[in-house]
Amino acid sequence: MAQFKCKYCKEKDDADNLVLEEIEGRRKKDHRDGKWKKGDTFYQKVRFHQSCRDRTLRETKEWEICYETVKEIHGLTTIPDFFVIMLQRVRNGNTTIGMKNSEGKRYKEGYEYPIITECYERKRDLIQWKMKQWDGGDLQFMQFVMKYYIDDIINQVAREYEIKKEKEKKMKQVNEDFDFELSKPSKERKKTDDDMDISNFL
Ligand SMILES: [Zn+2]
Repeated sequence: MAQFKCKYCKEKDDADNLVLEEIEGRRKKDHRDGKWKKGDTFYQKVRFHQSCRDRTLRETKEWEICYETVKEIHGLTTIPDFFVIMLQRVRNGNTTIGMKNSEGKRYKEGYEYPIITECYERKRDLIQWKMKQWDGGDLQFMQFVMKYYIDDIINQVAREYEIKKEKEKKMKQVNEDFDFELSKPSKERKKTDDDMDISNFL
């Protein structure tokens, strides 16, 4: 079977395992030999795992919430690029963030954005109290917060997040089992109704 690359994870897989989508694009330049002109429409086929797309969309949303939360707590209109990269590195596990972070394994895996967001929320009052006394620059303050306040609780928050996710997974499983149990008797019931209808005819 023909194999194609997933747009998101870049792994090759059988066509059957991938969703196929045709996307519309516009030519950015005239073709050298006149095959198309700038602005012409063209169609491109893309393939991806549904789970990869779902994960990417979820992560984009989680990043937006994280960005807005950090920005708002620090009272900024935008987060400096340097610190945006810092947040992304914490997410991807490409950095150690502070003094206390000795759990090497965990930081290599990174911290999902909801974990980072939750840390900022929990330290909101402390950050805003400290900000009033701070006489350095914004960026230095953001680094200070990350190094001392966020690092202080991030492993604890990460553990709680994992437990919560595990619970939700189990709940989902229970609900699926429950749905399955329900679907059987409802069919049985319908059959009985049909029988009754027939008997009414007789
Ligand atoms: Zn994929």
